[in-house]
Amino acid sequence: MKSYRKELIFKTPNRRDYINITPQVEEALRESGIKEGLCLVNAMHITASVYINDDERGLLKDFDDWLDSLAPHEPISRYRHNGAEDNGDAHLKRQVMGREVVVAVTNGKLDFGTWEQIFYGEFDGRRPKRVLIKIIGE
Ligand code: ZN
Repeated sequence: MKSYRKELIFKTPNRRDYINITPQVEEALRESGIKEGLCLVNAMHITASVYINDDERGLLKDFDDWLDSLAPHEPISRYRHNGAEDNGDAHLKRQVMGREVVVAVTNGKLDFGTWEQIFYGEFDGRRPKRVLIKIIGE
């Protein structure tokens, strides 16, 4: 069995951003040379998510509005976590959107359902943060 590991780094311009990282994951899969197996992609920070959904501008804004209605950023005093930090909301948003995804690798391609794309969801950005890609298979 082969395995391949790669880290991506994102420094988003805004506190919250949603980035389609499918091209970077496909590039890692090509680099791995793996044709059949599994591809794990996870955020390496507890205030960011990796998730799969549609790359549609309206939906990205809907996610953001929905998450901020569940866990509004402000007032920051509403979160016991805040004090030295102001990212209490970001921890909660990450928990809703999840830590990682696993995609089957078939014939050297990510074996997606219709419209599926891999996203990096940032909830406390403007600093460098890492995403791990781990691919195993043959
Ligand atoms: Zn925190």
